[in-house]
Amino acid sequence: MKGILKQLYYNNFLPREEIIALLDNITEHMYPMLFEMAQSTVKRVYGNRIFIRGLMEFSNHCKNNCLYCGIRRNNKEVVRYRLSKTQILDSLKKAYNLGYKTFVLQSGEDLYYTDRLLVEIIKEIKSKFPNTALTLSIGERDFDEYEQFFNAGVDRFLLRHETATPSLYNMLHPNMNFENRKNCLYNLKKIRYQTGAGFIVGLPNENNEVLADNLLFLKELNPEMIGIGPLVPHPQTPLSHMKAGSIKKTLLLLALTRLFIPRALIPITSALNTLDERGIEKGIKAGCNVLMLNLSPKSVKTKYEIYKGKEARDMYEIAAIKKKINAIGYVVDMSRGDHIDWLK
Ligand code: SAM
Repeated sequence: MKGILKQLYYNNFLPREEIIALLDNITEHMYPMLFEMAQSTVKRVYGNRIFIRGLMEFSNHCKNNCLYCGIRRNNKEVVRYRLSKTQILDSLKKAYNLGYKTFVLQSGEDLYYTDRLLVEIIKEIKSKFPNTALTLSIGERDFDEYEQFFNAGVDRFLLRHETATPSLYNMLHPNMNFENRKNCLYNLKKIRYQTGAGFIVGLPNENNEVLADNLLFLKELNPEMIGIGPLVPHPQTPLSHMKAGSIKKTLLLLALTRLFIPRALIPITSALNTLDERGIEKGIKAGCNVLMLNLSPKSVKTKYEIYKGKEARDMYEIAAIKKKINAIGYVVDMSRGDHIDWLK
């Protein structure tokens, strides 16, 4: 196993059979070595900086019915909300005054926000908050719309592929399909967004082949950002009976992803934070280098419940988080935190 790990560390690649063999046979006593490799890899690219983003969840309406997601269309118990342009701008202003330089606007797939309305919001954000980076995470749209948002000033787009096994993807996402998801991701890359993909650990029917295919898909897409989090079952979804995704397996996959794609920006996901109170420290030790804190107004914060007990770290917690991060030898970086290839 040590040999395979070293091969991955030096070549940033393993063929499928070797990834599966690694996942089948790796034991916990190898984790310290793997985590060391992941940390030395990320430090070579970004140093010991942890980039901070402000996350604004502006609508929990969704036209989709993803089997795992708490805000899926068929969950009638969700109290739905939408934020107006003014509400969004007000929250961003508070964050901007606290020093945040990257904003992530996320929502369910909510077509109330037309391309025209979004372009208006984007332009206003970019003119009111100069020198900030703006990320959208609003699901699947046409090439034309993605291009309009980019031209209006959006820098990055997050769209997890969720799983790269087409049959599993199609089973979990009624009326959606993996081919389309993949096309959206390649469209985003083509438009020159800093593009984010990523997957959930602990989905039904998951095995090491499924996980290996996720790593290979990421290697091929070469996204600038990669979000990986454990499944946190939501009681009002068809996956309520599932066990939560394993923290250890999530950390293992984060570290392997870091070795496959050294230059990626990899967040400590709120799903990891929700399941483990030391999620931040553990994520960083596995090679993560981004943390998103929540900017949503108090009135809606608990309503964006994609899973139960979602642990949304608040933007005002920054001082306490700084301490935590310093204590393990890393520093907080509030700058835009672009992908290294965008800094040239
Ligand atoms: N609608 C947008 C999209 O499709 O990209 C963004 C919002 S979506 C709610 C954000 C992410 O939440 C998804 O990509 C999914 O991976 C994650 N998610 C949803 N429900 C989850 C659950 N129960 N456990 C873990 N992650 C979950």
